[in-house]
Amino acid sequence: MQLLENRIISDGVVKAGDVLKVDGFLNHQIDVSLLNKLGEEFKRLYSDCTVNKILTVEASGIGIACITAQFFNCNVVFAKKSKSSNIADDVYSAPAYSFTHKNDYEMIVSKQFLGKGDKVLIIDDFLAKGSALNALIEIVSKAGAELVGCGIAVEKQYQGGGDNLRKRGIRVESLAKIKSMDEKKGIEFTD
Ligand code: 5GP
Repeated sequence: MQLLENRIISDGVVKAGDVLKVDGFLNHQIDVSLLNKLGEEFKRLYSDCTVNKILTVEASGIGIACITAQFFNCNVVFAKKSKSSNIADDVYSAPAYSFTHKNDYEMIVSKQFLGKGDKVLIIDDFLAKGSALNALIEIVSKAGAELVGCGIAVEKQYQGGGDNLRKRGIRVESLAKIKSMDEKKGIEFTD
């Protein structure tokens, strides 16, 4: 999506360790009108599908998930991150590894808010190696819900997470796909 790529070029900052900072419009300050366009695009891409729930993970997925949900006229459930592996039995959980914080955690969702009959679109801000999406997909499966697909704002394609999911037959739609990224050379997008 050209609009998002342009914004990444103008306001994104490439940091050491393969991290793209987009604090000016997505991860700290939120450009609501830009997110509105991203939500509209996710709706266009998944217009052939029935979606009755959007699933994301706290914290940075929540804004984009909520704006997208308005186009699908459905609720958002966000997975919480728990450091404890001592998990209550009224939640679905799955282990994940944080790309940005470099630590293991458990993702948890209350059994109250996800279950059989739900047709779930997973939305997140970034896709790198795929740990966050894998955990969300595991939770959808444990809940007996149906996974419609995933909608990602920025996929760092060279890190392989998205292509591994696609190989498993999971639909992943990303609005900006980064082919390569370097502090000095900058960002190259996939065509
Ligand atoms: P993965 O689990 O796919 O390796 O990483 C995805 C998660 O890590 C996303 O939920 C996002 O919060 C975070 N993340 C991964 N790469 C980046 C990045 O380059 N910039 C930012 N801001 N977050 C990232």
